[in-house]
Formats: sequence, C-alpha cells, structure tokens
Amino acid sequence: MEQTFIMIKPDGVQRGLVGEIIGRFEKKGFSLKGLKLLTVDQAFAEKHYADLSSKPFFNGLVEYIISGPVVAMVWEGKNVVTTGRKIIGATNPAESAPGTIRGDFAIDIGRNVIHGSDAVESAKKEIGLWFPDGVANWCGLSQIAVFL
Ligand code: ADP
Ligand code: MG
Repeated sequence: MEQTFIMIKPDGVQRGLVGEIIGRFEKKGFSLKGLKLLTVDQAFAEKHYADLSSKPFFNGLVEYIISGPVVAMVWEGKNVVTTGRKIIGATNPAESAPGTIRGDFAIDIGRNVIHGSDAVESAKKEIGLWFPDGVANWCGLSQIAVFL
C-alpha cells in the first residue's frame, strides 16, 4: 500500500494545529502508520531539503525547520501521495485553495505549516530518512512490558 511522509512544521506545532491536521488525514480515510515529535538539527534539515540547496531561500528554510519541534508522520492509503498534496494545498498559501490546510491556516510561503512528499519515490526516501528504524503501528506485549 502506498505511503507518504507528512511533517507538521514548527509553526504548525507552535500554533496548535497538530490535532486539526491529523484529523483531516484521518477523516479522509488514510491510516496513520508512524508519528513522532522531534526537533532536527541543521545537517538533518539540509539533508531533507537537499534538492533545494541551490535556491535563494534554502538557508531561511533550514532555519525555519530547525526552529522548534516538528511532527513527523507516515500516512498510508490509496493514492496517498497525490491526495495528501491536495489536502495540503499549493506551496504558496496565497494560491492554496480554501479547504486545504495551507489555504485555511497559512499566509506566507515561508511559514506554510506542513510538508508532504511530492512523489512515491521521494516519499520512500523521506520515510527512510525520518524513520530509519521503520514504522510500527502495533505495540507487542514485549514492548508494552518496557513501560510497566
Ligand atoms: P512544497 O513544500 O509544496 O513541496 P517546495 O518543495 O517547492 O514546496 O519547497 C519546500 C518548502 O520551501 C516550501 O514548503 C516552503 O516552506 C519553502 N519555500 C518554497 N519556495 C519558497 C520561497 N519562494 N520563499 C520562501 N520559502 C519557500
Ligand atoms: Mg517539496
């Protein structure tokens, strides 16, 4: 089954949009397969956005992503990469349609709340980068025992 990598950026976490965003993916019918709250360092952010390293906004983008905790997620379902991008909306919130996450919650391209993989191949790469130990949606007895 197709998977995509979705990240709620620091502005989205800080503004309390985590529940709202997760709800939109859940209500659409997609399945949450992995989730963690973490703050990444500069080298990691540069790796995630390596394809954009020649862009004039690259340094600002990296500063933005490392400015606070992000919520990294793996979502699964039919056409989840393309449909996930539709749920997110256009990169520039000035052009994102109302009803999309960016269209409803963002104004600036440099603070656009959320990231979503743009293709199945990049999704695989990004899931591998952010979840190097894989994702798990079932907590076995041995894992539960760790918390007892
Ligand atoms: P998307 O996140 O929609 O896939 P891109 O991959 O083109 O968009 O860009 C990655 C991120 O870089 C954007 O989500 C946005 O945060 C930032 N960004 C893109 N273009 C600009 C720009 N012109 N000025 C500032 N930040 C930008
Ligand atoms: Mg992109």
